[in-house]
Amino acid sequence: MASKKNTDKNHNSKTKAFRKKDPSTTELIDGILNGDIATLARAITLIESTKSEHFQKSNDIINQCLPHSGKSIRIGITGVPGVGKSTFIETFGSYLTAMGKKVAVLAVDPTSTISKGSILGDKTRMQELVKDKNAYIRPSPTGHSLGGVARKTRETIILCEAAGFDTILVETVGVGQSETAVHGMVDFFLLLKLAGAGDELQGIKRGIMEMADAIVINKADGNNIEQANLAKVEFSKAVHLFTPKDNGWSPKVLSCSATQKTGISEIWEVIKTYIDDKPGLDGIIANRRTQNKYWLLQTIEDRLKQQFYENKNIKNNLDKMIQLVVDGEISPFNAAEKLLILAKDP
Ligand code: GDP
Repeated sequence: MASKKNTDKNHNSKTKAFRKKDPSTTELIDGILNGDIATLARAITLIESTKSEHFQKSNDIINQCLPHSGKSIRIGITGVPGVGKSTFIETFGSYLTAMGKKVAVLAVDPTSTISKGSILGDKTRMQELVKDKNAYIRPSPTGHSLGGVARKTRETIILCEAAGFDTILVETVGVGQSETAVHGMVDFFLLLKLAGAGDELQGIKRGIMEMADAIVINKADGNNIEQANLAKVEFSKAVHLFTPKDNGWSPKVLSCSATQKTGISEIWEVIKTYIDDKPGLDGIIANRRTQNKYWLLQTIEDRLKQQFYENKNIKNNLDKMIQLVVDGEISPFNAAEKLLILAKDP
């Protein structure tokens, strides 16, 4: 509780400082490109903002950071609550920073909007990494739909890369569509699993398994080692049944213990092979092109929707039109047509 109070106090005083002197766009960009973490954090807060006056400024920052981005490996990490994501990120992240890497940890957690508190990317769950000067942890943006959260996270990746982070870890949890969104913004998708949690193959959401570039059985320690090895065999058999990936990569199955820090270097070796192998590199480039196209179309969709609902004619007429549709006085298609015509008038 005390630490929460402190955090809030720090946050408030930071917010006040921010209000006192709003840095210019140029100052923000310079700070980011110089790898200044405080400036990076401010810029991310700006792009997460829903205020329309921040929109232009954040777009300018993103555009100017874009040429300096793209030089990292982006790794998505997913798994059900309790599988050990935070612990794994703490161990894996520290392993990477000890190698001289700069690691940014981001989170996509659509539930944080509902619960008003982020479950993922919570700094208190990554005690070591939070003190590491080569790591930056940013909780999930809140106050947006999943589409909004995903877009903000994607923009945050650009800013982190421009600030010199060469490894981006994006954490998400096995709920709703968040996996698909994160899969659509990373180069390598890692699924954490547990051994012995019921029937190995029953518990797997096939869609998520198929997205994974590596399946890692965590908590392979103590009495659990044998079960973890068995699970490894099961999962290895299962991944062979999946449709091969376009880039020719076949998903790898590994085990680790995030608490005992075992099996960690093997995971990094697999990711390195993925990046260094010719098919892997080509795959990454091709994949990012496809992702960019997807995000362009997705952003247009989001913006058109936003513009529609923010239009004053729509605000004035939507409820009335819904009522008419509910009362059966007008068809939904006719009502939609009328509203779309009204929306043309700004
Ligand atoms: P998350 O909800 O997926 O982020 O999971 P956490 O990282 O919070 O871990 C959930 C619980 O599992 C915690 O009590 C951890 O200490 C424990 N845990 C995480 N990794 C391991 C591991 O490798 N071995 C063991 N035995 N416990 C672990």
